Amino acid sequence: MSKKLNPPLRRKNFVTFDDSDWHGVIYEVRGPYYLVHTPQGETYTCKTLRTTLSENPNSTLAVVGDRVRFRPLEERNDVALHNGIITFIEKRRSALSRNRERRRNRSGETEHVIASNIDQLVIITSITDPPFRPKLVDRYLAFAEFERLTALLVLNKIDLDTEHLAPSLLKLYNELGYDTLTVSAQTGEGIEQLRQKLIGKTSVLSGHSGVGKTTLINQLTGSSLPTGELSEKTRKGAHTTSNAIMLVVSQPHSNEYGYVIDTPGIREFSLDGIAQEELRHLFVEFRKYAPNCVFSSCTHTTEPDCAVRAAVERGDISPMRYESYLTLFAEAQERKS
Ligand code: GDP
Ligand code: ZN
Repeated sequence: MSKKLNPPLRRKNFVTFDDSDWHGVIYEVRGPYYLVHTPQGETYTCKTLRTTLSENPNSTLAVVGDRVRFRPLEERNDVALHNGIITFIEKRRSALSRNRERRRNRSGETEHVIASNIDQLVIITSITDPPFRPKLVDRYLAFAEFERLTALLVLNKIDLDTEHLAPSLLKLYNELGYDTLTVSAQTGEGIEQLRQKLIGKTSVLSGHSGVGKTTLINQLTGSSLPTGELSEKTRKGAHTTSNAIMLVVSQPHSNEYGYVIDTPGIREFSLDGIAQEELRHLFVEFRKYAPNCVFSSCTHTTEPDCAVRAAVERGDISPMRYESYLTLFAEAQERKS
């Protein structure tokens, strides 16, 4: 065999997928390196190569949440370096994209995926300081419906609920069929219930700044991400990236675990790219009434004999939710024009 065909350097770059390659999940992306967590609880720092195979064409090659196969590099002087080469990236069950318009873009532009294989969107809110923001909750819920993620609404800082407002705040969402939970990262109340809801799944934690998201993540995962003012500073710092990170939630005396994904740079998922006509399907309570609208394409805004608007007027649909819908509808209109 000629030297040209098989140069030693080239061979290194021609690692191809082999059935004996190890299984793992990418939990962090650091520059060109992918940190991979194995089912045995070990971590490996991996790279991809041009020969890395992917089941996700026209998309970001490797992201947090990706199930991968990798080949550990050989130990040197009997020291395990915990380095490896990612040889294969499995098909994503779901993908959270920075820019969803691109998903519809047929020009072949790469979809920018932030995280993948997500089961659940956990919406963190606080009873006060900052105040509960129903419109933001509805935006997240619409997002969860669009992405077909289970939504869990968590109301934090329950220790500050001196007027016992929590039950009345959450009633609406419970009636809509969404799972809710009251917790306090300060006193620990509800934290174990929250942990249970995270085990066996991959959850994205979202929430407006200051609601206590980072404090909760630290408690659930045993990590020490900066919180409060410190986190504001870190976020503004030169080295902050908006990269998603994934952390392991475990429970004592059990080998079951879950993953939580934090997306520090993306506080509020944008609904850009969700078509205006699509929005009406993202408010679950409309579904019951919409078939009775005169027009099957009714947007429930100005059409005559709209069964959804009639339900709002009767009080069968919450006016607050309907208003959230109108806000999102108007935003989508602006994007169109
Ligand atoms: P993030 O911006 O959502 O990540 O919020 P942080 O975790 O940084 O928390 C913001 C502030 O709220 C910090 O000063 C926390 O100590 C405080 N905090 C978090 N959880 C609770 C809670 O359950 N009760 C109270 N009283 N304060 C909390
Ligand atoms: Zn209608």
